[in-house]
Amino acid sequence: MIIDIGIEVKNYSKKTKDKTGKIDKTVICDCPNCHAKQSATYYCTYWRHAFVFEMKDGILKLIDHHLEIIRVECNSCETTHAILPWDAIPYKQCSLTAFLLIMQKVVLADNTLEKAPKKLQPSSQFIYEMVCVWKEFWASVTSLLRVAFLTYLESEAEVLQFILKNTKMVVEQYIKHNKWGIFMTHGRKQNPRKITVGIRGN
Ligand SMILES: [Zn+2]
Repeated sequence: MIIDIGIEVKNYSKKTKDKTGKIDKTVICDCPNCHAKQSATYYCTYWRHAFVFEMKDGILKLIDHHLEIIRVECNSCETTHAILPWDAIPYKQCSLTAFLLIMQKVVLADNTLEKAPKKLQPSSQFIYEMVCVWKEFWASVTSLLRVAFLTYLESEAEVLQFILKNTKMVVEQYIKHNKWGIFMTHGRKQNPRKITVGIRGN
């Protein structure tokens, strides 16, 4: 898996397709598995959902962006890797920005889960799952802030505020330090890990 920090959910199609809507098959990047330089080239595409929050009629709503994701294959080790926008959470239908907005409403406003859904469109089950993801990750994000940003924060609220202000930089540093996507739970506990996570662009 390759996280492209130059592409976001909203402009993924624009950045990966030409004016006629055809996929750019000239894509080339380093392999996150064997680390061979410029060895991964176009292989295929697949479709996935990515939800982002957008304002509609003054209300914050979840909008479903259906993305045609590019997969590349390494010519050296023959593994294949999806190229994902930096604000998508791999294997989750919720975008990172939507996830952080939900956490902002729940963690910062100190809302109970029963109250929160009334202010947001997503279901309480959806929010509960997102809160579990946050709880699983926030300690490792706190460590990252110390190591990569020399920032010593104690509370969940402070850590969340920092991520909200510096989202892209935190995403980038998290991948570099942990070789893993931030808030990415799928395959995380497998040992040895079957998924490799690389980073691309700037
Ligand atoms: Zn490779």
